[in-house]
Amino acid sequence: MNVNQSAPPVPPFGQPQPVYPGYHQSSYGGQPGSTAAPTPYGAYNGPVPGYQQTPPPGAPPASTAQAPGGQAAYGQFGQGDVQNGPSSTVQMQRLPGSQPFGSAPLVPVVSQPAVLQPYGPPPTSAQVTAQLAGMHISGAVAPVPPTSGLGYGPPTSLASASGSFPNSGLYGSYPQGQAQGHPGAQPPQRSVLPQASSFTPSASGGPRMPSMTGPLLPGQSFGGPPVSQPNHISSPPPQALTPGTQMSGPPGPPPPMHSSQQPGYQLQQNGSFGPARGPQPNYGSPYPGTATFGSQPGPPQPLPPKRLDPDAIPSPIQVIEDDRNNRGSEPFITGVRGQVPPLVTTNFLVKDQGNASPRYIRCTSYNIPCTSDMAKQAQVPLAAVIKPLARLPPEEASPYVVDHGESGPLRCNRCKAYMCPFMQFIEGGRRFQCCFCSCINDVPPQYFQHLDHTGKRVDAYDRPELSLGSYEFLATVDYCKNNKFPSPPAFIFMIDVSYNAIRSGLVRLLCEELKSLLDFLPREGGAEESAVRVGFVTYNKVLHFYNVKSSLAQPQMMVVSDVGDMFVPLLDGFLVNVNESRTVITSLLDQIPEMFADTRETETVFAPVIQAGMEALKAAECAGKLFLFHTSLPIAEAPGKLKNRDDRKLINTDKEKTLFQPQTGAYQTLAKECVAQGCCVDLFLFPNQYVDVATLSVVPQLTGGSVYKYACFQVENDQERFLSDLRRDVQKVVGFDAVMRVRTSTGIRAVDFFGAFYMSNTTDVELAGLDGDKTVTVEFKHDDRLNEESGALLQCALLYTSCAGQRRLRIHNLALNCCTQLADLYRNCETDTLINYMAKFAYRGVLNSPVKTVRDTLITQCAQILACYRKNCASPSSAGQLILPECMKLLPVYLNCVLKSDVLQPGAEVTTDDRAYVRQLVTSMDVAETNVFFYPRLLPLTKSPIENTTEPPAVRASEERLSNGDIYLLENGLNLFLWVGASVQQGVVQSLFGVSSFSQITSGLSVLPVLDNLLSKKVRGLIDGLRAQRSRYMKLIVVKQEDKLEMLFKHFLVEDKSLSGGASYVDFLCHMHKEIRQLLS
Ligand SMILES: [Zn+2]
Repeated sequence: MNVNQSAPPVPPFGQPQPVYPGYHQSSYGGQPGSTAAPTPYGAYNGPVPGYQQTPPPGAPPASTAQAPGGQAAYGQFGQGDVQNGPSSTVQMQRLPGSQPFGSAPLVPVVSQPAVLQPYGPPPTSAQVTAQLAGMHISGAVAPVPPTSGLGYGPPTSLASASGSFPNSGLYGSYPQGQAQGHPGAQPPQRSVLPQASSFTPSASGGPRMPSMTGPLLPGQSFGGPPVSQPNHISSPPPQALTPGTQMSGPPGPPPPMHSSQQPGYQLQQNGSFGPARGPQPNYGSPYPGTATFGSQPGPPQPLPPKRLDPDAIPSPIQVIEDDRNNRGSEPFITGVRGQVPPLVTTNFLVKDQGNASPRYIRCTSYNIPCTSDMAKQAQVPLAAVIKPLARLPPEEASPYVVDHGESGPLRCNRCKAYMCPFMQFIEGGRRFQCCFCSCINDVPPQYFQHLDHTGKRVDAYDRPELSLGSYEFLATVDYCKNNKFPSPPAFIFMIDVSYNAIRSGLVRLLCEELKSLLDFLPREGGAEESAVRVGFVTYNKVLHFYNVKSSLAQPQMMVVSDVGDMFVPLLDGFLVNVNESRTVITSLLDQIPEMFADTRETETVFAPVIQAGMEALKAAECAGKLFLFHTSLPIAEAPGKLKNRDDRKLINTDKEKTLFQPQTGAYQTLAKECVAQGCCVDLFLFPNQYVDVATLSVVPQLTGGSVYKYACFQVENDQERFLSDLRRDVQKVVGFDAVMRVRTSTGIRAVDFFGAFYMSNTTDVELAGLDGDKTVTVEFKHDDRLNEESGALLQCALLYTSCAGQRRLRIHNLALNCCTQLADLYRNCETDTLINYMAKFAYRGVLNSPVKTVRDTLITQCAQILACYRKNCASPSSAGQLILPECMKLLPVYLNCVLKSDVLQPGAEVTTDDRAYVRQLVTSMDVAETNVFFYPRLLPLTKSPIENTTEPPAVRASEERLSNGDIYLLENGLNLFLWVGASVQQGVVQSLFGVSSFSQITSGLSVLPVLDNLLSKKVRGLIDGLRAQRSRYMKLIVVKQEDKLEMLFKHFLVEDKSLSGGASYVDFLCHMHKEIRQLLS
């Protein structure tokens, strides 16, 4: 670091000169004047305040120890006996060597068709003509039958159901053979499947040719064992419903159906969506009548009533494929204001020409209504999903670092916006007008430059901040806490060594791994070694600190048993450089598993552990990250002690929200202290039962950390997943002690924020840590009229400390168009981003509102968005037509997936912890992650020739699309299934599994054998490729057709009706159409 060198007048691109100037007094991070005006109008989405802004539920820390049942057996050993001291003579037994880990996974290149199709203006709407006089889901009129164990009805079915998947849930492991006995899990016999009966809704219930996998055809499920109603009709929308649409009436006779009188759902024109398009492959053939994938004719069917043909409704697969074909072959150049980027599912390169890459910022719309009245009318949320430290593909350059020397970054005097390409230089270059607040500022002499004949500075293309959408500034000391440049951050590993952690093999595995993983701590640029220091703590009911100073022959342990008043017993020797202290650290990691090998201690503390880590960072005057490895509900007497309060009976009641709320406010208080210290907490959970994820994840959530959960952890089953996640987590680049501010041009402002962070005021997003996977979703509202000519500007500024301890500012700018015609808004929306926003909005809403209310709010908003389009933008047509904006034609299918998700509509096998976990995960997801999470990818593996090594085109997530002669891979970013059809060719089975028949394939298998043939290599390669794309390791589960595990798999076939009562896509579309028609009438 060259402290005294002065900055060159024009820093060349990419050659930052770190210059640390003298001291100046200014506010930390630069506070603009008071701009927090009151909201000029009521929120049109019915905002639900985030829980960091609401008082905690107020339950004081429990004062009585209440051990969960499962731990009682060890309670007799609970009185702090075993405290083995370190033994320097212990020989440690090594586990099988861990896999070497390489660099961060590369994004696999998806090959694109060579044919480049012109990308003209998209058609504006998709029309599903349905003559829907009868398309109001008649199912709504159907009686609500008694629950049959398929949903989460009466406790009886719950009780039996919830016992079926002990401690597993979809996010944990599925110990083989544990999945049994779920009432819905039994594959129904095809022969006993009742026919779709006469009350089957006309819209969906027409008999279909059974697919080969008999159970639960989407159409037949209505006629099968009674299931609960789809949720979206479980509450009356504001508009009057047709008589009989009550949702929860007692069972009664089915209402008369009028399906046979329905004129049917004819597709308008040529069957395509949109007025001016020719037939498209997927949207044609209004009445295929019989599905072609079924190999067995069904039993005699009654005359098929007309129904909405699944092939005639908008297909996510088709939209994704079209976008790949149209937009994947050319780079996306960011020079044009208001351009909608390619979809997240399209592989494309970005060229920064003045606006931030969509990898950093994606918007729900790139054309914003000029007035709040228009915005309210359309109900389209205006939001940006921002990933400030997004990782880029190798072909794209990281943001240039600009060094302005002692003067620091140039900013507007009034609103404090940073210099950017949209600032207007005037008066021959002596002044500039701020593009955000219009303030006229003087250009400092050292920054002066002449203007060319167009008014542009002649050095504009030499300066990143004048020509690029994204860049970084080196921050001066003014931007540092206490006006002091930061020290490099530290990592503290805090390991639960209670009975469960030892017994499962976790501690031994982790310690062995850390010995090599410590060589891969994040480093900056070409640095030879990481600047990050490390420290170690183990704990159960008490904490053990370790002195690993390089001069010691052996590590020293210091025990702190007063967990009520946590302090750090040593400073010198606790946080060390890995290379200097390697011998001592290795010795410690060898000894830890042995020291606690015979422990009987089952109780743990939790809050004091975080407190200790935070205090250690505070004492060392640095930011950093705590890696906590924790196994159980912290019931030991200590601050933050918890009790088991899991109660599935609360589901579907007004108290359900308490399941998502922390049970004590202590963790929010602790999180606030952590944020102030720049202490980010990553939590690895290994629960065997309920651990109250909702409470334990509060600190990770508010400090920008991550939570990982490995239910029923067993080394042999879960080590690959855990180690893979751990390696990635430890190595990833993190910005510490960060503050993010989003500035906007006059007319709109940021009003709401979603993500893993803390906010102590209404504008600054505080992040103890922020990594390249985390996003912050920001919602904007109008506070004035926007101007079509000047458009709207966003500037996201992130102040952070790099892994090497350098203080920096990362700036992202984005210019959007503004419109006075609603049609322009609807033409420039991005549904994937809308869904990201709506899911986060809903997932936060469950903290404060009944889940049913949250679902209804989503449905109402979606209907309003589409009704506004229909009323104002679509050409006149009969009311029977469902007309969707082209850009939003997938909104219904995707929204239905959100509504059916485990947080909003849990199946019986989903635990309370699973729901809290997913809720927390989704909060930080980017658009690509929410896209695949809510609508999983289903890839046929055996349809294309074996030689074809490119990723096969996906098929729609529906059982109808499965052929029993094929094998499919399904992934959603967290789960990975390999589904094997019962009639798969013997040769294929042999090639892939190394066994001679379908029956010999082990159900639940998680590793494919390494076999030397093309198919085996191709499938394993594909799996590796999918894993590399995701931020978490996806454990494979092999599912055989008709096997018990198949129910887990079917949970992800999101176009079908779900066992928990979630509507099928077709049904939901019909329902949405009915809602829209009611709004229009
Ligand atoms: Zn300004």
